[in-house]
Amino acid sequence: TKWVSSFGDGKAEGTASMKATLGGKGANLAEMSNLGLPVPPGFTITTDVCTYFYAHDNSYPPELTAMVEEALGKMEAQTSMGFGSAEKPLLVSVRSGAPISMPGMMDTVLNLGLNDETVEGLARASGDPRFAYDSYRRFIQMYGDVVMEVKHYSFEEALEDLKREKGARFDTELDAEALKELVKTYKAIVRQEASRDFPQDPKEQLWGAIGAVFGSWMSARAITYRRINSISAEMGTAVTVQAMVFGNMGDDCATGVAFTRNPSTGEKLYYGEYLINAQGEDVVAGIRTPQALSKAMAEAGESDPAESMEVKLPGTYKELTDVFDKLEAHYREMQDIEFTVQQGKLYVLQTRTGKRTAAAALKIAVDLAAEKVITQDEAVGRVEPASLDQLLHPTLDPKAERKIIAKGLPASPGAVSGKVVFNAEDAEAKAAAGEAVILVRIETSPDDIHGMHAAKGIVTQRGGMTSHAAVVARGMGKACVCGAGELSISYRDKTFTSQGVTVKEGEEITIDGGAGLVMAGRVPTVDPQLSGDFATLMEWADKLRRLKVRTNADTPTDARTAIKFGAEGIGLCRTEHMFFQDERILAMREMILAQDVEGRRKALAKILPMQKGDFVQLFEIMGPRPVTIRLLDPPLHEFLPHEPHEMDEVAKAAGVEPKTVRRRVAELKEANPMLGLRGCRLGILYPEISEMQARAIFEAVVETAAKVGTAPIPEVMVPLVAMAKEFELIKARIDAVAREVMAESGKQIEYQVGTMIELPRAALRADEIALEASFFSFGSNDLTQMTLGLSRDDAGKFLEPYQKAGIFEHDPFQSIDQSGVGELIQIGAERGRKVRPDIKLGICGEHGGDPASIAFCEKVGLDYVSCSPYRVPIARLAAAQAML
Ligand code: PEP
Ligand code: MG
Repeated sequence: TKWVSSFGDGKAEGTASMKATLGGKGANLAEMSNLGLPVPPGFTITTDVCTYFYAHDNSYPPELTAMVEEALGKMEAQTSMGFGSAEKPLLVSVRSGAPISMPGMMDTVLNLGLNDETVEGLARASGDPRFAYDSYRRFIQMYGDVVMEVKHYSFEEALEDLKREKGARFDTELDAEALKELVKTYKAIVRQEASRDFPQDPKEQLWGAIGAVFGSWMSARAITYRRINSISAEMGTAVTVQAMVFGNMGDDCATGVAFTRNPSTGEKLYYGEYLINAQGEDVVAGIRTPQALSKAMAEAGESDPAESMEVKLPGTYKELTDVFDKLEAHYREMQDIEFTVQQGKLYVLQTRTGKRTAAAALKIAVDLAAEKVITQDEAVGRVEPASLDQLLHPTLDPKAERKIIAKGLPASPGAVSGKVVFNAEDAEAKAAAGEAVILVRIETSPDDIHGMHAAKGIVTQRGGMTSHAAVVARGMGKACVCGAGELSISYRDKTFTSQGVTVKEGEEITIDGGAGLVMAGRVPTVDPQLSGDFATLMEWADKLRRLKVRTNADTPTDARTAIKFGAEGIGLCRTEHMFFQDERILAMREMILAQDVEGRRKALAKILPMQKGDFVQLFEIMGPRPVTIRLLDPPLHEFLPHEPHEMDEVAKAAGVEPKTVRRRVAELKEANPMLGLRGCRLGILYPEISEMQARAIFEAVVETAAKVGTAPIPEVMVPLVAMAKEFELIKARIDAVAREVMAESGKQIEYQVGTMIELPRAALRADEIALEASFFSFGSNDLTQMTLGLSRDDAGKFLEPYQKAGIFEHDPFQSIDQSGVGELIQIGAERGRKVRPDIKLGICGEHGGDPASIAFCEKVGLDYVSCSPYRVPIARLAAAQAML
């Protein structure tokens, strides 16, 4: 086995296609070497070694040592330097690189190879002892922290002490002698805290760092990140060892990170930040404020164009932007690039597909297609359907009053309000209690990931557009304002102060991550714009997809929203949801609790006009689009009154004694309401309920036709059918009512009657049911509940341990269990079609809005998916991607 893969000097053993073994970083470094770009030489230890490492009790393949030696030898030859050499010491960086980018998750060690001897060599070679000792102390600090588990603040305290002693305000004011002293102190700290000496042997250092990278694959924060992002631990990480280049050897040196397009808006401009005379970590850590790369970016933001790289280092800037163009053209995708300039010479250290906001993803995809770099279909495939969510959510109402209390960088768009919290734990706890929170931090680190995930939005006091907070928030699609320097945050008091306003924990603020604003209190928001690039991409998606997309809508508002988002019909109107308001629920309760037919008819008479009115509205809004109306399916526990005063109200409305109602509630109480008197069972027991609903639907058809000139064609849907006979009985009643209404009105009524397939038996006996049903809609919520025997209402409590134990890959109520529940859907579709080839097939559980489930529906050949209004665009895009 080849465990090590070298690159450098215009060639490489690997290519970009080898991400699985070389990791993203290693594969792209190989690719860039092959492209002839200026990449410092190095080698990558493959992900297979990581797998081996964990399979063999944290040990390496026996051949690995020799392979690493050989690769190191190549680096020495290419750089004309020696690893451990006192004259011309070769220093290396050691980084992790998984096949999928995990920003900030894994550890990096720079300047490796320095020791008491080689530091002198570096001082001589660079002619700068200060630089050499600064590199050495940084190395001890990083290595001590990452490899030897010495707390990083021990080093920071020592540094601060020394600065105080020397009267230095900045690190840069410490001279070589002071830094030499600091190195001694650092080594003493290591000896004390790690109970062993800082290793002087470069090889020992190297293997220590390699081991730390592999070890960090199973660190708590890496595991959390993988869990949140559904990344498998199987793939492992690679380790890339690369010759160091220095951006901190003087004023002709620099380091920076760049995007080939604006990752926040998608605008085509060279976007990035750099620092003169600095090392890479200085840019990301947000300690010094970086300057803009291009003049255009400086002008658009709030930095000084005269300090931009375009002005300060024009020659290198030109070289760099040529590299950007070459990389974007080669990868046909926006790139995120790290570079260093050492004494005027440019080096590219990393390139990868740039993370971006949903808005930027959309614009970049549409622009790249317009530039003919990619096709329209490819553009459709470039946007993550779930990320559209970010674009569909509100922005600040421009007319609303706002009290701005701080300004920062617009790191990740979206306007949100929430209660302030100051640490990840509080964010998680409050969010779990159902509160919207905004996480306010001086800066964030990978330890804050779970809190960032729980928060609605994130604010930091320090850090630029590429700081940890900004990158992670964009990835998560959370609103984020970073670098709000005016904030003075006290973690101890749990307050922040800005512009004279003090905000305590638990007080509400609003942030606008698209504008970089922090505001006091709650500021109203408005709905998003769905034109421009969004409309263009959706048009391309619509051309591509076969599946139709309908919506689950119970109210006129739902229906209007869904149409705005492109819904092609209503796939599920849950009629019981139309009764969730005060006086309506009273009538509904009266009906459910009625003692006899007479009592029920009385209550039903109250309900009929409400239902009819609702249906007329829905029909009018939906126009010629199909509308599926489901007969009542009220799991009793959702509708029975619980409080005494509620029972009294029902008694009063029904004109009976309170104690009668109480007795009836006790009678109706079920041990397993989800398996109880619900769905079509209600209509079987109390035919007058189905009859009233059918009448409301058909009278609404007649009324709508008279109003707008064309008659809607309703699809009447029977829920929770297990036996064909249930469906037949109810259908016969619906047909009878239709005949009655036609006779009364003298109008012809067109309609269809179909059923939900949400019990395993219905899926298995679909052929019998299809004899009479014109359509099936798979109720995947119940079908999941009933197939897995997993309560929809209670499963939340133990899903997480189940996922952690690897029993469920994902929540089966969110993304369909394809091999189990999915097979039932497949069987139901096949058996239904066998009897009735033109049977209409859809899905209307939560899964109808889940991209992976939608891909499955495409595979099974359903006719449509139906999902909640806000998911409609996601479903349109996912349905299109299912065709690619
Ligand atoms: C279903 O079970 O999937 C369904 C859509 O019905 P409900 O969620 O109302 O039970
Ligand atoms: Mg159901």
